[in-house]
Amino acid sequence: ELISINAFAKALKIKPDEFLVQLGQLGFEGVTLDSLMAGETAALVAQEYGYEPTVESGDSQDLKPRPPPEDASKLPSRPPIVTIMGHVDHGKTTILDYLRKSSVAAQEHGGITQHIGAFSVRLSSGKPITFLDTPGHAAFLTMRQRGANITDIVVLVVAADDSVKPQTLEALKHARAAKVPIIVAINKIDKEGARIDAVKHDLAQAEVEIEDFGGDVQVVCVSGKTGQGMDDLEENILTLSEILDHRSELDGPAEGWILESSLKPTGKVATVVVTRGTLRPGDYVAAGLTWAKIRQLRNEAGADINEAPPGTPVEILGWKDLPAAGDQVIQSPNEDRAKTAVSYREGLREREKDAAEYETITEARRVQQEQRAREKAANEGRKRGTGTGTGAGAGVEQDLPDEEDGTKMVNFVVKGDVHGSVEAVCAAIQEVGSHEVRPRVLRSATGPITESDVEHAATSRSVIVNFATTTPGHVRRMAETQGVRILDHTIIYHLIDDVKANLSSYLAPEV
Ligand code: GDP
Repeated sequence: ELISINAFAKALKIKPDEFLVQLGQLGFEGVTLDSLMAGETAALVAQEYGYEPTVESGDSQDLKPRPPPEDASKLPSRPPIVTIMGHVDHGKTTILDYLRKSSVAAQEHGGITQHIGAFSVRLSSGKPITFLDTPGHAAFLTMRQRGANITDIVVLVVAADDSVKPQTLEALKHARAAKVPIIVAINKIDKEGARIDAVKHDLAQAEVEIEDFGGDVQVVCVSGKTGQGMDDLEENILTLSEILDHRSELDGPAEGWILESSLKPTGKVATVVVTRGTLRPGDYVAAGLTWAKIRQLRNEAGADINEAPPGTPVEILGWKDLPAAGDQVIQSPNEDRAKTAVSYREGLREREKDAAEYETITEARRVQQEQRAREKAANEGRKRGTGTGTGAGAGVEQDLPDEEDGTKMVNFVVKGDVHGSVEAVCAAIQEVGSHEVRPRVLRSATGPITESDVEHAATSRSVIVNFATTTPGHVRRMAETQGVRILDHTIIYHLIDDVKANLSSYLAPEV
């Protein structure tokens, strides 16, 4: 939470100009009326003026998921939600198509289904499984980046004639990072070149602890083309799901996640997977920055349904605006509460945007100042005849990063898979260091390392820390040529050890 100095002065009932002077006396230098102050700092300042600040978040206006149940074991079971991942051309779409044809809704409606982002399949045993109908890592990652961990199980498809490939490993990494259990489907076993044992061997090499070698990861051999083994795959999913014991309330305010949304001739439509409670036509829901009075609920065959219990994928009609994939859906008791929540969120988003802009500006300013200081130093060096003479900054690049009050500062750029991990990594980095050398995080964001990150790291002489994202090859090569160091980790304490080692390398005895 940030507050502008102007607004703060008003809140304290002090003339803005006077307030600026007083802030200067309190040690805040270079503050203007447009400057923003962090809520915590503002609370301290407010105390100086005899106020007892209470932190008011306004949270009560929002719609939040209810707390987890105290004893889930008494709740009804719900279908598992499954995502199919794997290397390109290994058969994800083929397997999904095969399954979609056996979808519950298709059986009831002459085999016709449409793509709505998910569908439900029911085995002869009568237990349904919900498949997310968007193969590939992008969908899974987008969801996770937005904090939506809706997948209970990942089916990792590996073609029997091609074995473990880069995207197989990547899918594994994502599933592990999300702590989602996997089932391996060795596909294309109908093909001549199928080498099932070789695939199992390669999986073991990739540290997948498969059953055949004493682990607990199930491996099923299938053909998406002939349908061979597909029943086994479904059985295996249900068995794992029983072990994981997925259960949810049927009643109470419903919750779910937006899988996709689009503008159709019938209006604004979004597919939702319900995770708790039951949705019915006429209910009010809010998702992200929009809300709906549910006009219609439709299944994957396009048929109207009267209720959507947990695990059900449904199309919801009646949105005011299109919600975004990955938004959480929460049922509201009435229209007013839905509207209030949405406007509260809009306000929050505005403030976040302002804060982000503020950070970018101050950071740009600082980098610019550093650049100038370096140029000045280089010029002075040249004047004294000790410079290399090949231009400003030359030769300075190898220097130690600048100092603050006699402490050497080492710059870091932090990237990570989700917002939460980036925050955790930044916090952990900021805790290490000594009076001789300290880390300073210049930039942090979610997502893989980009060319611009490398560029930034090269000019600010930063070390890039990457937590659980995959760095594209060209970016990695760019970092190599520019001499930018990348620390890759998926475990925070390893990462911190590495950061520490990096810091101590700056403590080499001076000549
Ligand atoms: P995706 O990129 O993982 O979605 O792979 P696709 O489902 O598009 O499959 C790639 C190719 O492999 C297509 O030509 C499919 O027809 C073929 N294919 C997929 N599964 C099987 C299978 O079980 N057996 C055989 N023989 N071919 C398959």
